[in-house]
Amino acid sequence: MNIVIFGPPGAGKGTQSNLLVNKYKLHQLSTGALLRKEIKNKTELGIEISSIINSGNLVSDKIVGDLIQKYVSNEIFKNRLIFDGYPRNIAQAKNLDNLLSENNQKIDIVLKLSVKLETIKKRILERKTLEKRADDSEIIAVKRYENYEKNILPVINFYKQSNLLKVIDGENPISEISDEISGFIDSIKGWLWIIRQYNYAGKTKNSLIYGSYCRDKYSTK
Ligand code: AMP
Repeated sequence: MNIVIFGPPGAGKGTQSNLLVNKYKLHQLSTGALLRKEIKNKTELGIEISSIINSGNLVSDKIVGDLIQKYVSNEIFKNRLIFDGYPRNIAQAKNLDNLLSENNQKIDIVLKLSVKLETIKKRILERKTLEKRADDSEIIAVKRYENYEKNILPVINFYKQSNLLKVIDGENPISEISDEISGFIDSIKGWLWIIRQYNYAGKTKNSLIYGSYCRDKYSTK
């Protein structure tokens, strides 16, 4: 199962991804965290991108595309990825589709956490005290929110068309959000086609009769 989770910075993508990692044994691929690690380790890439990230702008599609490509093509992570913070624009969404299909994979569900700007500002200031992220200030938070809103609409429409999108109210308590997400995932994992055997002219035949929802222990995935 591959999952895309998106929402504005501070929407709770990281928190919900962590819960999913533990519950479904998935791997969280946060492009923001990978980029911050490059900055922390003062790599060539880190030095190149630090001012872009700290000012709330997006780094180039090529840079993030190269980062995620390494994970998508790695057998260890096959069908176990949560894309957190990627894609952030339509070019990235198309790139992700191509990369996955080249590696015989697909996206199973897209989760969109919706949160108001006022809540985001509050959460980001709280996070600044806890995590001390250089891009967590009110001005930068607003800039990142605006950047997100500007680019994300075509991405939402892209995933709506393929029927993968689930919109979740990110203002709700963490446990309520995670229960709702688990419900979506369990229903995908529990979808089992029932094969019925019947007798026709003395011969046993199989027919696919219906898709039925059932619990994890019966799931074929
Ligand atoms: P995040 O932790 O997802 O809020 O990302 C922090 C910062 O990393 C963003 O404000 C961008 O500067 C950069 N970043 C993360 N993901 C992407 C992406 N998919 N495309 C471009 N820039 C990104």
